[in-house]
Amino acid sequence: MERCVQRSGYGQRSRYGQRSRYGQRSRYRHMYKDVSKMVCRIALSVVIIISGSMILKTGGTFLRQNTGFLTGTERADTSLGWNLILVNKDYAIPGHYELELTQLSNGKEVDSRIYPALQEMFDDARMSGLQLYVREGYRTWEEQQAIMEERIAEYLAQGYSKQEAKKMAEGYVSIPGTSEHQLGLAVDVNADTSASSSDEVYAWLDANAYRYGFIKRYPSDKTEITGVNHEPWHYRYVGREAAEEMKENNFCLEEYVEWKESH
Ligand SMILES: [Zn+2]
Repeated sequence: MERCVQRSGYGQRSRYGQRSRYGQRSRYRHMYKDVSKMVCRIALSVVIIISGSMILKTGGTFLRQNTGFLTGTERADTSLGWNLILVNKDYAIPGHYELELTQLSNGKEVDSRIYPALQEMFDDARMSGLQLYVREGYRTWEEQQAIMEERIAEYLAQGYSKQEAKKMAEGYVSIPGTSEHQLGLAVDVNADTSASSSDEVYAWLDANAYRYGFIKRYPSDKTEITGVNHEPWHYRYVGREAAEEMKENNFCLEEYVEWKESH
């Protein structure tokens, strides 16, 4: 009887013990599930927060560049005035963009609104003994497209892959729809090398163009922001006040527009 009770008691303890161990395992399993759910939720939130902030910060560029979900670019903002329109790889010329052109003596065209300042700049440069000319002014979409294709073909002929050729070309030629030449607000100024050296002309422009409202649009120290290699010949009209402020603060147009919008 006594042994029986002991056995019984032992048996109960034993069963209780088993249940207890089972219960603990079960609790651990539930805890494990809860913890992994929590980790998944945290990871998902982190992914959502990071991608959300990157999209906000880059205005969708991150998505376009990294996933190809979005195609095309934003339309350039004209709210700061026609002279401060910013077009680059992220901002394309608005579809409704209208301009009136004035033809230069060599047949090149520019937006009529920049013509007086351009003429004055050239007159003063010539007074300083320089010989220079506008090699490129306004371009149509088709002309920009042809220039891009020509440049890509050059790199392909040099043995670069299609992808490399396209990337290298885009370092010098703007994607059609995003070129300042299509705005008529930019000029490529070259030296007439029979009378002046390119270095002399570029140096004069670098030092003086801002007085006439023109800026060197793609300076060597801003290539990471502009996405375009140094172009000492490409001048963009922004107006005298903006050009002076940009010169004073060493801003490129991207930086200036951002600064202007936050003031
Ligand atoms: Zn140019």
